[in-house]
Amino acid sequence: MAEQLIREIDERRDDLVVLTQELLRIPTLNPPGENYREICDYLARRLKKSGFEIDLVRAFGTPGDSDKYPRWNVIARRDGKRSGECVHFNSHIDVVDVGHGWSKDPFGGELEDGKIYGRGACDMKGGLAASIIAVEAFLATLPDFSGAIEVSGTADEESGGYGGVAYLAEKGFFDPERVQHVIIPEPLNKDRICLGHRGVWWAEVETYGEIAHGSMPFLGDCAVRHMGAVLDEMENSLFPALAEKRTEMPVVPEGARQSTLNINSIHGGQAEGDDDFTGLPSPCVPDSCRMIVDRRFLLEENIDEVQAEFLQVLKDVENKRASFRYDVRELHRVLPTMTDKEAPVVRTVARAIEETLGKEAEYVVSPGTYDQKHIDRIGKLKNCIAYGPGILDLAHKPDEYVGVEDMLDSAKVMGRSLIELLAQP
Ligand SMILES: [Zn+2]
Repeated sequence: MAEQLIREIDERRDDLVVLTQELLRIPTLNPPGENYREICDYLARRLKKSGFEIDLVRAFGTPGDSDKYPRWNVIARRDGKRSGECVHFNSHIDVVDVGHGWSKDPFGGELEDGKIYGRGACDMKGGLAASIIAVEAFLATLPDFSGAIEVSGTADEESGGYGGVAYLAEKGFFDPERVQHVIIPEPLNKDRICLGHRGVWWAEVETYGEIAHGSMPFLGDCAVRHMGAVLDEMENSLFPALAEKRTEMPVVPEGARQSTLNINSIHGGQAEGDDDFTGLPSPCVPDSCRMIVDRRFLLEENIDEVQAEFLQVLKDVENKRASFRYDVRELHRVLPTMTDKEAPVVRTVARAIEETLGKEAEYVVSPGTYDQKHIDRIGKLKNCIAYGPGILDLAHKPDEYVGVEDMLDSAKVMGRSLIELLAQP
C-alpha cells in the first residue's frame, strides 16, 4: 500500500507545484487580513472535488474582523466508510508583510531550480499544499479507509490566531470527540517533529515623571531616567538570572533553550515628528516613558513566578529611587505546551519519517508560539504536533522559498501517517 501511495504522490508533482503557486498568488497579507475569503473559496473548490464536505466559518467580532477584512476560515471533512479516528491537517492561510530586499515577485510563485518563491512559500502555503497532495494521494490509494480526514485553512495565525484556530476551537471544531490527531504543517524541516512551544508573557511598563522646561530639568522629574534605572536593574539582575534558567524542552535554535526577554520598544517624552516635519523639538522634561517587554518562558516555569520575578525588578528600583512611580500592564499571555513523545500522532509521524527518509526523526520545540496553543488550551486536544516542509529560518524573510523535493518528501510522511492511522478495518 505504501508503494502505491509513494507512486501516487510522485505522479502529483506538477499538481503540487501548481497548487503551491496558485496559493502564493492570492496575497493573504496579515495585517490587515486580505483575501481570506478568496483563498478559502479556492481551497473549498479543490477539496470539494476530492469528496470533502466544506464548512466556511467567519470569526465574527474577533480582533481585526470587519466587513472590509472578514476573518474567514475553511474546514473540509471527509468521512470514511467505517467509523474510526479523525486526522486533521491545520494550516494558516495568512502571510506576513513582504518587507524589503526581494529579487523575486513575492506573489508570483516563480519556480526556479526546484524552489518555489513567494511570501508564505515556506510559512506555510507549501505545507498546506503538501498536506492536500498527501490526502488526495491517500484517498486514491485507499478510498475505503476508516475514520475521517479534515483539512483546514485558518486565519490570523501570524497575529495570534484569534480569528482562526482559537475561534474554531471555541466552536468545538477541535473537540477530542471530533478530532483525534492534529498535524500542523509549519516549516520545521521534513525530518523534525515539533512537539510544542515556550510560553509568552508580554507586559507594558510605564514610568512617570513631571513635565518642566528642558533648561531646568531639576524643576521636573525625568521619566526616561527612571526607565534607565529599570534597564540598569534588568541588566544587573534579571538578564543574568534568565540565562541561568535552562530547559529540558528540545527548543531550537539552541540559544532559546533558556528563558529569554526582549525589549520590543521604548518610547519616552515627545513623540517623534513625521519624516516630513523639518522643525525642531521643544525642550521638555518627559513625564512618561513606556516600554514593552516580551518574556518567553519554559515548561519548568510558572507564569505567576515569571510575573513576580519581573515585578521584583521594579520593586528593587523603587527602593533605590525616591520619586520612582510606575505601572505594569499585562498585554498577552500564552502558556507553554509540549506534546508527549509517546503520543500516538508523534509515534506515527516518527515512524513515517524513518520509513520515508531512512533516518530517525528529530524532536524539537519552537521558540515562539503557533496555533497549537489554542488546540491545547481551548480544544483540550493534546495529540497535536507541527510537522511540515520548508526551512524555518526562511520564514518572514525576503526571497522566501520552499523546495519541491521537500514538499514531496513531507507529503509522503503525511500520507504514510494516514495509512497507519486510518487503514485499520
Ligand atoms: Zn507559520
